[in-house]
Amino acid sequence: MESQKFKIAVWPSFLHAKCPRCRRGRIFANSMYGFGGQKMNATCDHCHLTYEIEPGYFYVAMFVSYAMNVAEFITAVVAISVLTGSNNPWLYVIVVLAISVILSPFNFRYSRVILLYWLTPGLHYNPELSKDKPFNQ
Ligand SMILES: [Zn+2]
Repeated sequence: MESQKFKIAVWPSFLHAKCPRCRRGRIFANSMYGFGGQKMNATCDHCHLTYEIEPGYFYVAMFVSYAMNVAEFITAVVAISVLTGSNNPWLYVIVVLAISVILSPFNFRYSRVILLYWLTPGLHYNPELSKDKPFNQ
């Protein structure tokens, strides 16, 4: 049992916002579109990784969120232009603002998850930490 390796795929754990090191613990304590806002766990409940690696670490997630917003806006504008062919700028403004509001919880969550999964040097998946029993240091 101890020699058995536990490998968890990256995309399901990314989509479910699991810990980037063990892919078992949850990064967020509640759902994305709940009424209580988004509450992030301080540490992984499985491998005890501290998510905020240094003070102000998640300010970098703003840049990731900015890039996500730009991609969403461009997609929306191209889709509106192709689907409606409209030249009314208010249509574009209203749709882009609505998309910005509707997708803000999604952008908040996944900008942090992208930062933890792929933009943090030295933070990698460790299959040994994915075992069923919690990691004890
Ligand atoms: Zn973990």
